[in-house]
Amino acid sequence: MPRKMLSKPTVTPFVVAYDDEQGGPENDLIIHFTPEPRLAYRVPQPGERDRGGVLWARVERTSRKGRPLYNLMNADRQRECMYDLLCQVCSEPASRNEDGWLFLDWRMPQDPPTWPEGSLTNMPPVCAGCARVAVEQCPHSDRFVPLRVKLPRLWGVSGVAYQWTGTGWRTDGTIPWLKYGDDRLRTVLASQLIRELRKVTVVDLP
Ligand SMILES: [Zn+2]
Repeated sequence: MPRKMLSKPTVTPFVVAYDDEQGGPENDLIIHFTPEPRLAYRVPQPGERDRGGVLWARVERTSRKGRPLYNLMNADRQRECMYDLLCQVCSEPASRNEDGWLFLDWRMPQDPPTWPEGSLTNMPPVCAGCARVAVEQCPHSDRFVPLRVKLPRLWGVSGVAYQWTGTGWRTDGTIPWLKYGDDRLRTVLASQLIRELRKVTVVDLP
C-alpha cells in the first residue's frame, strides 16, 4: 500500500530555525591574542566557547513563534541536541538500546566508502516515535536509513570563517566541516556540532 503523504508537516522539529531568531551582531566580535590570535567576543558569556576551544555563534532561541525555516537549524538548539544526544524533533532523550543511539542518515557524495561506518553527521539523533513521524512527513524520507550507533563521537563543527580586513569582517561560509584540533578553528564561529558515527548498524525503524 502506498505510504500516505501529508501535504504539510504537523510537527516542526525542535532544531529548526525561525525567521525571527536573530544572530548576534558582528561588532560583538574581536580578535583576542592568547597569545595566538583567535576570534572572541568583546564581552564573553559562559558556554560560548566549547571544550575544544571553538567559539559559538550567538543566536536567539526564545521565540519558536515566527515562521519556521525548515532548511535551517538554530545553532543553539542543534548544539544542545547533538551534544546531549536529544531527539532533534521533540528534544526528549534520543532512542538508545544495546546497539546504540538511533540516527536517521542518508548517504552523501562525500561519505567514505565504509558508509555508514565512519561517516560524519550534523543531524542529531531521534527518539523512536519521532523517527516514525519523520519518515511519514519529511519530503526526503525515501533517502532515510535508520542507524544504531554505539559510538557517536564528538568530531568537530560546521561554521563560518571570519577574517578582519582592517575596516570590517570578511566571512566565508563555504569552509568544510572542521575537526577539533584544526588550526583553522581559531577563526571560525561555529553553528553546528558534528559527530562521527562509529560502530554503526543499519536497522529497521523501531
Ligand atoms: Zn522525539
